[in-house]
Amino acid sequence: MAKKYEAVIVGAGPAGMFAALELAQEKRKVLIVDRGKDANARSCRMEYAGVCYKCDPCNILCGVGGAGTFSDGTLNLRPDIGGNLRDYTQTDEEAWSLVEEVDKTFIRYGVNDQLVAASADKIEQLKRRAASVGVNFVDIKQRHIGSDFTQKVINEFKRDLESRGVDFLLETRVRDILLRDGRCHGIVLEDGRRIPAASVLLAPGRVGANWTNSLVDQHGIKAKYAPIDIGVRVEVQSIVMDCVTDINRDPKFHIRTSEHDDFVRTFCTNRRGYIVKERYDGIVGVNGHSFRDKDSPNTNFALLVTIDLTEPLENTTTYGECIGRLAYTLGGGKPILQRMGDLRRGRRSTDHRIARNTVQNTLKDVTPGDIAMALPHRIVMDILESLDTLDKIIPGVASDSTLLYAPEIKFYAMKVHVNRHLETSIENLFAAGDGTGLSRDIVNASATGILAGRGMLKKMSKPGR
Ligand SMILES: Cc1cc2nc3c(=O)[nH]c(=O)nc-3n(C[C@H](O)[C@H](O)[C@H](O)COP(=O)(O)OP(=O)(O)OC[C@H]3O[C@@H](n4cnc5c(N)ncnc54)[C@H](O)[C@@H]3O)c2cc1C
Repeated sequence: MAKKYEAVIVGAGPAGMFAALELAQEKRKVLIVDRGKDANARSCRMEYAGVCYKCDPCNILCGVGGAGTFSDGTLNLRPDIGGNLRDYTQTDEEAWSLVEEVDKTFIRYGVNDQLVAASADKIEQLKRRAASVGVNFVDIKQRHIGSDFTQKVINEFKRDLESRGVDFLLETRVRDILLRDGRCHGIVLEDGRRIPAASVLLAPGRVGANWTNSLVDQHGIKAKYAPIDIGVRVEVQSIVMDCVTDINRDPKFHIRTSEHDDFVRTFCTNRRGYIVKERYDGIVGVNGHSFRDKDSPNTNFALLVTIDLTEPLENTTTYGECIGRLAYTLGGGKPILQRMGDLRRGRRSTDHRIARNTVQNTLKDVTPGDIAMALPHRIVMDILESLDTLDKIIPGVASDSTLLYAPEIKFYAMKVHVNRHLETSIENLFAAGDGTGLSRDIVNASATGILAGRGMLKKMSKPGR
């Protein structure tokens, strides 16, 4: 007779694995289903951080360990980076203690317990410099797993879950959830097999975001569009950024613009890195990476404006796609490149101006043009103002020779409505992680997994079940 499960978890990423640990510690019968392979079977020749040209991209995003398995595994130990755990906890202390729990668990499975840290003095000075111009420098305690080590940590985590009785069903896609009288009571696999369970957790990650959206539409699960981030990738000579990247490899500056009162942030800094193209359906955007063994003379980072829409258009994805398509048309299918000096003076950059520029572009397949023709005026003004503000902290970052590539767009999953036990509007259906819009990094995804696991336990222990 088939084994009966009390909990089924869709997704073996950090959110799913942490939820499983909570449940297994209380001796609950748990099944994790994932469309990808076991961590060991996920081979990926990494050319540079996170991008592999040698294998099926599903191997990078899917399987045990989820999307983080092939990353260099930087753990941002804060509840308000990569999501905001305070949305689901009653106090700040509770949010911070979740981060601490995630950290301790990773250390137990073999993550190096040394923090990536600069001297407290230098951090203090940078904070003060930023604060003096109204900018928040977010000091993040970070731990670095290392790309050659993430698989080992994930294997250890899985081995522990299995020793506690958790079953894994891999290379199997979940198609649907089972509902009766408005309550969830299991899942349907792609081949039509049904697996009943008292509780189901959706933790399908970014790769499963469209699937989550289809469940939201089909079953009327309450959800809303998450804000979108739109902006540019900034490229300067490394020497300009060294004064901050020596203190923090990925410095996060949070800016509130004075003209539009918009939130702008720096994101994903790549010291001595390269700009790369990113393709989605009908859109070409940009991103940045750095090689382990090959340095460029430049450093790049994303400068992103957060946009939340209300009415009549709430769909931030549609808005982002429209902007992406306009930029694609204007750039002739290539990202648009402009010197800061040209943007400031309202003229397009040309091949000639780019060729004699002090900063040489690391991405060559671009169209020199005018970003102000592709991005909405408000976003362009936010970018100009934010770079001028940052220049007071990082002298030279807003010089005429600074290069701007557009568009850089970060699409996020729809945010599923959950209560503080992370139960959705459908009884016995829980949500966690990036694919349900509740997080955007490893630590936050793991912490939402812990909360969902606890929520499921609470529900299971209610009398009458
Ligand atoms: C290249 C790369 C580098 C990154 N580097 C970092 C970093 O250094 N630090 C950091 O904090 N974050 C990093 N991230 C982000 C981080 O990996 C994610 O935030 C985190 O993995 C999210 O965890 P999750 O459990 O929500 O989802 P995921 O890790 O995405 O896992 C979801 C799992 O669900 C499975 N799944 C989806 N749909 C289905 C379905 N229908 N049926 C069955 N299974 C399904 C998928 O196969 C996947 O394994 C990186 C991401 C990428 C892609």
